[in-house]
Amino acid sequence: MATTAEPRSEATTGPTKAKGWGTDAPDQPLRPMEFERRALRDDDVAIQITYAGICHSDLHTARNDWAGTQYPVIPGHEIVGKVTAVGSAVTRHRVGDTVAVGCMVDSCMACDQCLDGWEVFCREGCTQTYNSPDRRSGEITKGGYTDHIVVRDHFVCKVPDGMDEAKVAPLLCAGITTYSPLRQYGVGQGTKMAVVGLGGLGHMGVKLGVALGASVTIITTTPEKGEDARALGAEDVILSTDAAQMEAAATRFDFILNTVPVPHEIDGYLSLLGRSGRMVIVGALTQMPGFVGASLIWWNRAVGGSAIGGIPETQEMLDLCAEKGIYPEVEMIAMNEVNEAYERLLKNDVRYRFVIDMARGI
Ligand code: NAP
Ligand code: ZN
Repeated sequence: MATTAEPRSEATTGPTKAKGWGTDAPDQPLRPMEFERRALRDDDVAIQITYAGICHSDLHTARNDWAGTQYPVIPGHEIVGKVTAVGSAVTRHRVGDTVAVGCMVDSCMACDQCLDGWEVFCREGCTQTYNSPDRRSGEITKGGYTDHIVVRDHFVCKVPDGMDEAKVAPLLCAGITTYSPLRQYGVGQGTKMAVVGLGGLGHMGVKLGVALGASVTIITTTPEKGEDARALGAEDVILSTDAAQMEAAATRFDFILNTVPVPHEIDGYLSLLGRSGRMVIVGALTQMPGFVGASLIWWNRAVGGSAIGGIPETQEMLDLCAEKGIYPEVEMIAMNEVNEAYERLLKNDVRYRFVIDMARGI
């Protein structure tokens, strides 16, 4: 059934019946599920979902790669839709607005981190969009592979007027997760930057790095992606499996954004950093093989990590993408193609983000 229906007037009066796709166990495919969304609280926004992106983190969670998945789980944290109802205290959003939701749906909003716009590091723990206990009811959150969602107003971003709504969803995770470290470390005009891994995050890293004025190189394991990388704005391409190419690039970069989704050796990438260069790892790795200390000491290098980004920074990123016309490269799928999409994601066969079009049925 198509889901671009009229706004749901019953949303203000009680819990609503929701449809989604989730999985019951790490080795089970996703399947249609029905459940209830909570009744609107005063500061809640109800959203009819039009598009949902598929992040590699969805796959990690569905397969319990990080342990801690509570089944059944309904993933999805790259969400775009239309506001269908708002609680009595909501002033920032109106029925009919096009809005977006990313990886978080709530936090204490009172600690130093929340007040600083770093809700992701809320002292009480932020509530993630799926697989996370709701702060008030304790029920486990269900994500964006659903027809509608109810989210605290602060965590709902505005999709700027004129944006192509069909392509916005991946910005809510792949976009902010790559934008945030670029901003934290002042990547801009004159920065020699490299991105490791041309996937969902990596391709946004290239686009955003170029938009901020950096000279961007892509470091890939897939020779066939070289042409795409240049089309996305990369000035150079290095094949990481080619020792000669890696050696020739020693000490070339100021900043490396590493998006590899599996545990891997980092010494080879560290050797590409020049004086006081930094590598930021955004891949959510369960473990990290050791690396040689001298890789850091020589050339004063640093290695660190970065977790999504805050809500104000997410809105800033959306506004920048609207202004500069920056969009992910997306492959649209129907909800019932999600299992095939997961298999293709595992095989590194996506150019460069799957987006579920809810109008094609759920
Ligand atoms: P993705 O679309 O699967 O892209 C990952 C890319 O890494 C692939 O396209 C591939 O690029 C490269 N790669 C894959 N396997 C590799 C291997 N064995 N060795 C070297 N390179 C490999 O994944 P994604 O959605 O961008 O997510 C990337 C990672 O970031 C995941 O672990 C995800 O959970 C994590 N993540 C973290 C945050 C955060 O807040 N820090 C937020 C979102 C996602 P090439 O073909 O170019 O080599
Ligand atoms: Zn994600």
